[in-house]
Amino acid sequence: MTGAEPHVARNYAPLPVTIASADGAWVTDADGRRYLDMLAGYSALNFGHRNPTLVGAAKDQLDRATLTSRAFRSDQLEPFAAALAELCKKDLVLPMNTGAEAVETGIKVARAWGYRVKRIPENRAKIIVAAGNFHGRTTTIVSFSDDADARDDFGPFMPGFVTVPFGDADALAEAIDDETAAVMIEPIQGEAGVVIPPEGYLKRVREITRERGVLFIADEIQSGLGRTGETFACAREGVVPDMYLLGKALGGGIVPVSAVVANDDVLGVIHPGEHGSTFGGNPLAAAVGHAVVDMLATGHWQERARALGEHLGEKLDALVGEGVTAVRIAGLWAGIDIDPSVGTGREISEKLMARGVLVKDTHGQTIRLAPPLTIRATELDWAVEQLEIVLKS
Ligand SMILES: *Cc1c(COP(=O)(O)O)cnc(C)c1O
Repeated sequence: MTGAEPHVARNYAPLPVTIASADGAWVTDADGRRYLDMLAGYSALNFGHRNPTLVGAAKDQLDRATLTSRAFRSDQLEPFAAALAELCKKDLVLPMNTGAEAVETGIKVARAWGYRVKRIPENRAKIIVAAGNFHGRTTTIVSFSDDADARDDFGPFMPGFVTVPFGDADALAEAIDDETAAVMIEPIQGEAGVVIPPEGYLKRVREITRERGVLFIADEIQSGLGRTGETFACAREGVVPDMYLLGKALGGGIVPVSAVVANDDVLGVIHPGEHGSTFGGNPLAAAVGHAVVDMLATGHWQERARALGEHLGEKLDALVGEGVTAVRIAGLWAGIDIDPSVGTGREISEKLMARGVLVKDTHGQTIRLAPPLTIRATELDWAVEQLEIVLKS
């Protein structure tokens, strides 16, 4: 069933599958056909569709209170913030809704810190970003995207951003000057195709930013919360940034929940009235986010991502040279470059869909796998078998 959507604006080109229900790693279309979801809402569904623990937390909260606004306190926000701060080993949490809002908040906090703490002259603060980045879709954020589709015809653009190559610590060090407030990077670039920087890069970014008095902001919206086999991708190099930007899986695939997490000397620069959101930190979001944090606090999901990722990596590596030109994998997160002679990423995605596996292409020749961390090894094996068949056909 193609399920055309004549009244939906065409800002997406979805695969022609119409999902009617979902459970764990599986979705069912309007005709009752089942598909293994190997995208998992771009990592927003790390714990699977309708995870019973998370749905339970949401249902309980639906029967109590859903929205208070931040004009009043709710009994859910502080416990959620305390748990998330503990998970991040930081002091403060600023809750928002979408990832892009967390990024915008991070930018505002970094600038305010730049002026109020570092004493950068007014309106001069700069933030260094990496080429190939994806941080969201607002006008400020697309201002420092280098993806023409994301950016073209959406100017005028926000000044104050400097782009350096991803993975090149020397270039980053060179770009820093007295007006630099922050460096903001994805520790692994998800949308770019699960691009993993050279080993030691994050460590050097940490050293350079510390030495030069510049904030290190890690956009862990996609890479964080268990996906890479650690709570945060930065932890793969034992690195702790000054600020985490979180989103996607923080909402358990149920509600949009994002957050900026940092110590008081950074996030404490924001005063009442300077930033906010009607829905940010609402009781329903806080209850679900808290349940997500409790699940991650056990370490079980990180361990699972590590073990399953190793298993998946072995299977995928065997496809290199067999229609696949390269595989990048971090935990249960893989970018697979498809040999152009067997088709585009989109064509492979459509063929996989016909075989009951849902994936998403990115940047032409790459397909990205980010299955729920709840998936079974046998299900991963089956998905890779389908890929093998598609590559051979
Ligand atoms: C998805 C994503 C965002 C934007 O999140 P939205 O909730 O779509 O606004 C920002 N940064 C990264 C790294 C992402 O993957």
